Amino acid sequence: MEEHSRAQRFLLAYTSDFIARTGRNPLALVHSFGCQQNVSDGERLMGRLAAVGYGFTKDPEEASLIIYNTCAVRENAEDRVYGAIGQLKHLKERKPELVIGICGCMAQQKHVAEKIKETYKQVDLVFGTFAYNDLYEMLCEVIENKKRVFNRSERPTDIDEDFVQLRENSFQAFVPIMYGCNNFCTYCIVPYVRGRERSRRPESIIREVQGLADSGYKEITLLGQNVNSYSYGFSELLRAVNDIEGDFRIRFMSSHPKDASMELIDTILSCDKVCKQLHLPVQAGSDRVLKLMNRKYDTTTYLEIVDYIRDKAPGFSLSTDIIVGFPGETYEEFCMTKALIKRVKYDNIYSFVYSKRSGTPAAELPDDISDKQKGLWLRELLLEQRETSSVWLRRFIGQICRVLVEGKGRKSEEYMTGKNDEGIIVEFKGSEELIGKFVPVRITKAMNWALEGELTGIDQ
Ligand code: SF4
Repeated sequence: MEEHSRAQRFLLAYTSDFIARTGRNPLALVHSFGCQQNVSDGERLMGRLAAVGYGFTKDPEEASLIIYNTCAVRENAEDRVYGAIGQLKHLKERKPELVIGICGCMAQQKHVAEKIKETYKQVDLVFGTFAYNDLYEMLCEVIENKKRVFNRSERPTDIDEDFVQLRENSFQAFVPIMYGCNNFCTYCIVPYVRGRERSRRPESIIREVQGLADSGYKEITLLGQNVNSYSYGFSELLRAVNDIEGDFRIRFMSSHPKDASMELIDTILSCDKVCKQLHLPVQAGSDRVLKLMNRKYDTTTYLEIVDYIRDKAPGFSLSTDIIVGFPGETYEEFCMTKALIKRVKYDNIYSFVYSKRSGTPAAELPDDISDKQKGLWLRELLLEQRETSSVWLRRFIGQICRVLVEGKGRKSEEYMTGKNDEGIIVEFKGSEELIGKFVPVRITKAMNWALEGELTGIDQ
């Protein structure tokens, strides 16, 4: 505690001295790769930096501190990070006082930390997912004592319930409700780099959501690697958050099918602020492959939940993740995944070619499917999905959807884009003043990835 305040005092003195010399705050560039959990961690780091006097920039040339918050889920995400670190070499040569830090899931892995230490000498600071609470001490060591710091602590830290977060978006917010994962799916690195599940207390989550609602946030997404195994009761938490007054909607992700109970579905359907949408990662349509993946459900139980949802709320939106080409998967088994997609009718699928992660059990399995083959299967899967969703999305034609406007549309200059309550992209003609507001849009057209419609007036 004493150590912590000393580091904080040092950083406050460092930033005020910088302001005195240059007339502005030192700037930090914090870039998060990967999932929403990582984006949320990045906002947490920014909150801590702002508290000791840093401002923020997106331009590496202006930055005094660059932190890349990394993702280890897929190999190509790691390659992108190495590419980005490599590009900073010349900048560091020109600006030796620049501090470069790498944190997050990649940095938590021993072999990555060692590779960065040996190969990327421009990096001053490497810290894993359990070391965020030590940020001030680590920065102090780098800036004051001019030392490189490597912190791969494996000791899960206490949850900092009321952490300061600097949110980059003024109307959509992510609220982490739990950290880590206990599931050990055989392909996944997350339990090794983020540790076992730890849940935040419901009262601090409710306090945070209340604060966001009071500040006018319109969309609040509860986050966790396995959000529906929240240890104080996820349905209870959803009901409590739903009872908070305000004009906002609630989403959550990611859910694990093994914890998707009928009770959870009933809760979603009975809570007016909770979106009628569920991201339910199925990963594969073959029970043998699901078992190899250690997913702890089979297609029968998965489809029971889907049928329960379709029976109670036929227009409910489902999305999923699929891994194509898991080691040993046969073409017949891959076809079962295609059949499942057709049967469930997802609005969206996030499909990936299997990516080997060293340290996971699946990395030890013989992987005899060529990359070319996996690529062909992926294309086949996407075609199937496009065909299914272009028909299924037509259910919205003629309906008036409530759309939260997020920015400029893809179609042309005149178009804006946002998402409806079901999480589907809606494009319509409108102006930038609508960004951050709910608007009613009458749907006129369904494409295979989005909807198009006309603004029918502004509802607030
Ligand atoms: S549920 Fe499985 S895939 Fe998801 S984070 Fe946990 S181990 Fe990884």
